Amino acid sequence: MNVLQGLQPAAVFTAFEELSRIPHGSGNTAGAADYVAAFAARHGLRSVQDEWHNVIVYKPGSPGREAEPPVILQAHLDMVCAKQPDVTFDFTRDALRLQTDGEWVWAQGTTLGGDDGAGVAIILAVLARQDLSHPPIEAVFTSDEETGMYGAAGLDFSLLRGKRMINLDSEEEGIFTVGCAGGVRCTVTLPMAAEACTAPAYTVAVRDLQGGHSGAEIHRNRQNANRLLAQTVAALGEGVRLASFAGGKLDNAIPREASCVVCTHLPAETLAAAARQAQQTARAGEDTAACVTVTPAPTPAAAWTAADTARLLTFITTAPAGVQAMCADLPNVVETSLNMGVVACDAAGVQVHFALRSSVESAKAALLERVLQTARACGGQGTTAGAYPAWEYRAHSPLRDTLVNAYTAQYGKAPQVIVIHAGLECGLFCQKCPGLDAVSIGPALEHIHTPAERMNVASVGRSYEFVCRCLAAL
Ligand SMILES: [Zn+2]
Repeated sequence: MNVLQGLQPAAVFTAFEELSRIPHGSGNTAGAADYVAAFAARHGLRSVQDEWHNVIVYKPGSPGREAEPPVILQAHLDMVCAKQPDVTFDFTRDALRLQTDGEWVWAQGTTLGGDDGAGVAIILAVLARQDLSHPPIEAVFTSDEETGMYGAAGLDFSLLRGKRMINLDSEEEGIFTVGCAGGVRCTVTLPMAAEACTAPAYTVAVRDLQGGHSGAEIHRNRQNANRLLAQTVAALGEGVRLASFAGGKLDNAIPREASCVVCTHLPAETLAAAARQAQQTARAGEDTAACVTVTPAPTPAAAWTAADTARLLTFITTAPAGVQAMCADLPNVVETSLNMGVVACDAAGVQVHFALRSSVESAKAALLERVLQTARACGGQGTTAGAYPAWEYRAHSPLRDTLVNAYTAQYGKAPQVIVIHAGLECGLFCQKCPGLDAVSIGPALEHIHTPAERMNVASVGRSYEFVCRCLAAL
């Protein structure tokens, strides 16, 4: 049954619904890539698929425009898999349960994958359309953007000739992104020694913090659950040993929850007072619903030594955190930041995962060095992965000018043109294709990366229309 039947433009929503039936979480995009390749074949278009499950589809220019320089249209195939806790859903097998009220489209109990299925579907509809004036199109569908842009990183850029690119991975209609921060992930491992323990044990937990995206919301100075928890325990002073410590789910999400088990002969009231103090501090800021609790726990067989407990707490509380610098020439844009997203522990020790971002490569490198130095000072060591370059703002951008003019003609007002602190694949494309002129746009999506994600139907229609007008105007 076609849930989205009747929604306009039909070609876009049909493609979106077909894609929604194919599981396409990050790391699992082979099916989606095959779908795109089959879609291309169905429309008589040549496509190339690589081992990363990236797909490039080539569409010749419309009659009379065959010899013009090509334009790249780009979106990512993978989606974030998140579901409501009470929902049974297998992201490796199940079709998304699409719902619509005619105004919005969402998926029952799960992420929708509007990020970036909306972009994919708009491009597919453009590829299928016959009555459009356009230069040659190189449509690039990348894999695994959400987990580290691994598809774009592996893409063979010699397959592309385009020097202009419209990326469809933004989620606010009327906002054009023309630059973004670069980033790198860093994991610090602290080896931890355990010994027998007989002291009373407590679980100290932080929950109900605001959290948020580590790029888009890092400047709000929201509490980081891992850090707040470590500060709470550190405030107890000596005489406390940790038996475990864990918090956060993704390195690029500001952690909302963290908990640890402490073993101590301190009076329970001392722990409760520290928790109250931490909760008060958090609630005085943006985290008005913050809860910090202490509850008795069974005494574990072993806990980390006092020395290792101190090293761990020192690392978590003193490693650089949050916003490090603001852009000098752009108002209210963060230049350099980092997020201690995840702390996890196993028998061998504790792993602390960071996401670092900066629009200045040297500032990113310097910050990374500070994290690694703090790690070494605390007896740990770090590794890095998933580095992606900044996408630098271009003062001269004919593509941006064309898009701004097309937008103004269609909407009767100018778009907002911005540079963001979050990462986009445009950075990688610009690094690999020197001189590439790129703009990122997209239809209105809300609550992306959460089960409340939804996509605005009318906005998808206008955005599709806008892409078509831009192709005609290029
Ligand atoms: Zn996306």
